[in-house]
Formats: sequence, C-alpha cells, structure tokens
Amino acid sequence: MFDHIAFPIPYQTLQLPQPVQLTIKRLDLIHPQISGNKFFKLKYNLLAAQQQGFSQVLTFGGAFSNHIAATAFAAQHFGFQSIGMIRGEELASQPFNPTLQTAQDLGMQLHFLSRFEYRLRHQAEYLQQLQQQYPQAFIIPEGGSNALAIQGTQEILSPDDLENYDVICCAVGTGGTLAGIIESSSELQHVLGFSALKGDFLKHDIQQWTDKSNWSLTDAYCCGGYAKTTLELLQFMQQFEQQYDIPLEQVYTAKMMMGLLDLIQHSHFPAHTRILVIHTGGLQGKLKTY
Ligand SMILES: *Cc1c(COP(=O)(O)O)cnc(C)c1O
Repeated sequence: MFDHIAFPIPYQTLQLPQPVQLTIKRLDLIHPQISGNKFFKLKYNLLAAQQQGFSQVLTFGGAFSNHIAATAFAAQHFGFQSIGMIRGEELASQPFNPTLQTAQDLGMQLHFLSRFEYRLRHQAEYLQQLQQQYPQAFIIPEGGSNALAIQGTQEILSPDDLENYDVICCAVGTGGTLAGIIESSSELQHVLGFSALKGDFLKHDIQQWTDKSNWSLTDAYCCGGYAKTTLELLQFMQQFEQQYDIPLEQVYTAKMMMGLLDLIQHSHFPAHTRILVIHTGGLQGKLKTY
C-alpha cells in the first residue's frame, strides 16, 4: 500500500484579494481510496498489526465514516480481513450508502450496533470482550485516533513546511490529525483547527496527545454540529470548487475552508502571513458537483 502513494504531495497556491499567502497541501491526491489524513493515521496501526501477527483489523464508525472506507481498502491491500462495527442497527435492513457499499465490496464484514452498544466503544471492559470474540483482530478506535495514528500524522508536515509557513490549518473530527500536526510543528508556527463538531471537549482530547501550546481550535464554523450542513455551506462549497477546481466535502474540508476564508476576509491574520491548509481528503463517497 505505501508504495502506491503519490509522493511528493502536490501544493496549490490560491490567488486571493487579501494580502496573505494561502497554500493548500493536497493530501486528497495521494491515493484515490485511502486519501488524505486517513492514510497517515492507518500507516503505523497496520504495520503494528502486521508485526504482531494479527490477521484481521476491527474498527468503529458511522455510516458515512471516511475512516471505515479507508480501513476497508487498506486492510484488503495489506492482506488483512476487516471488520467494521457500524453505528445504527436500522442500517442493516436498508440499502447501503456508497461508503458502506464500498467497504463491503472491499471485503469488510459489517456489523451494525445499537446506539447503546456503540456508546461502549471506548470502554476497556467492552474492548476486552470484543478482543476475546475476535482474537485475531487488531482493534483500531473510531476515527482511527490512537498513539500510532498520531505517530503517522506527525509525518504530514515536511521539514520545508516547518520553514515556509506561519500558520497551519486543518479540519478536526477526533483531533488525532491536528495533534500530530501540532506535535511536529515548529514553535514559531501556529496550528489552527476547524472543528466539524460542536463543543469544547475536543480541546481536552487534543491536550491528552500534546503538551505544546502553539495551537487553537474553533467550532464557529461547524454549522450546528457533526455532518450538519447549511445552505450557506453548500453554496460556498460549490462556488469554491468552481473557482479553484479543488473538490471539498461538506463534513470537514468545506467547513474549514469557509471558516478560513471568513477569517481572512475579516483581517484575522497580519499582512503577509503564510498559511498552509491541509486538505485532508475524504472524497471517496462524493459525486462531482461541478
Ligand atoms: C476523518 C477526517 C478528518 C478528521 O480527522 P481527525 O484526525 O479525526 O480529527 C478531517 N478531514 C477529513 C476529510 C476526514 O476524513
């Protein structure tokens, strides 16, 4: 899998009316299926599973989870069987959406959990039981965020990125990607996370993974919460895609770009700030809208 990745990762600089430099690091282009940050999050998890002799990987996600799709693909590529624990019993009897259909086509065994059972997904006792039930499975948490994932997301920034930019922006779900970027950033840089979810709890999650303080997180552009959208967001996304020919998706990257361009318009950054935006991908379930 790792030899199929298109390195070096392309950069694209946008022409803006304001006096800041905005460059996008296109992680969405590294691979058609395991695109973006999920590749970095899975890398050391799958290497560890391989070294420890597991034959299966098991993980958790919602029906639209990019992590589920990426894991199904990467597992197949690496020669693992994959098991997906999906939130929502009712989904079992409905036609699959593209994410679940893709995962199943890639050989992922899907199990649909009640919301009650799904809520136990981080509990040690539940995970022990699951491990007994699936002794061959290497268990990866929801969204793929664990210490091994953060080891991987520390490789998103290159040495040049540490020199060439003042601000690094990234969309945030569980915070594992942002934590790796913070950990690998230089002290002179500021890392700005755009949360796709409402709430402050994410700050605490991220603090568990890093001692550094050169970062901040905003949920001002989450449009009401995870996977929620507004007409403004959808219109922004379409207009941005047409103008720059860069695809976004509405759960993460469109919210981040809308937020970032709003901050730039309101002169949040000093003139000549060099901003690097991480395009985290997540486009596998998306139809081209332009
Ligand atoms: C999963 C995902 C994120 C969030 O990553 P976390 O490490 O969970 O914060 C951001 N953008 C895209 C496109 C994703 O698929």
